[in-house]
Amino acid sequence: CAARGIEVIPEIDVPGHNQALAAAYPEFFCFPKPDMKVRTTAGNSRELVCPQKPEVWKFYAAVFKELKDIFPSSIVHLGGDEAPTELWEKCPLCREARTRADMKDEQEQMRAFFAKMTALLAKNGQKPQFWYEGDAGIYHPGETVYAWRQDQALQSIEKTKKAGLNLIMASSEYCYLDFPQIQGQHNWGWMRTTTLQKCYELDPAFGKPEKETNHIRGVHAPVWAEHLPDLNHLLYRAYPRACAIAEAGWSPMNARSWENFRRKLADHRQFILKRFNYDMERTKENEPPFK
Ligand SMILES: [Zn+2]
Repeated sequence: CAARGIEVIPEIDVPGHNQALAAAYPEFFCFPKPDMKVRTTAGNSRELVCPQKPEVWKFYAAVFKELKDIFPSSIVHLGGDEAPTELWEKCPLCREARTRADMKDEQEQMRAFFAKMTALLAKNGQKPQFWYEGDAGIYHPGETVYAWRQDQALQSIEKTKKAGLNLIMASSEYCYLDFPQIQGQHNWGWMRTTTLQKCYELDPAFGKPEKETNHIRGVHAPVWAEHLPDLNHLLYRAYPRACAIAEAGWSPMNARSWENFRRKLADHRQFILKRFNYDMERTKENEPPFK
């Protein structure tokens, strides 16, 4: 990847989205459940690691050090998204800590948790990134967050600008490449159809002027894999839409042309088919619901 100018950034989600951790180390969590199983389906868990348990910090110190040994990147994506705080609210250790630190709610606790994680990363010369969760106050000025929630890009741009954050645009209605790309493809009852043209229409600034959007650092196209059966299908979903997001990232709106893009894409088609050993028949067989 380095030889091709690609920086690989690992992601370790905290304080939630980590049910496998809850299965392996139940004692790290506010209310340990020894019978917790590794999650194999999409969605969120309620479990969050308990910031009041010293072994949690010892564990993450070791994890970050190991990541440093594996990945040359100085960035560790900490996720931070979809972390319902109801168990922090109930946890006696967390309650006591909030009272002691005069915190008014669990959001303040989240801010302190992120700050402590950031300090832990800093010991190795690493810094965090986060999935933006609407409340800019839980992050710290200068940090980088990703806007991803459907139809919330505009308010994300405004709030992160005000809070002094850097923003990467990954708004799901344009950028989620695991979403169905043609009408009739299975959408699990909630995913919007995101056509190649829709991806190409992404304006990372959402029409706002440069001075209000100069904190936007780039674009990002997630391919969440939990509903994708194999690598062949993942590539089928990723391409050619990734080409559209890439062009949206480096071309100003006044230089865009859907017709030009389609012409260029025709040249890429053979390369994509050959390079990925792409198997159209197999992909059709694997169309959800999967056999
Ligand atoms: Zn707790």
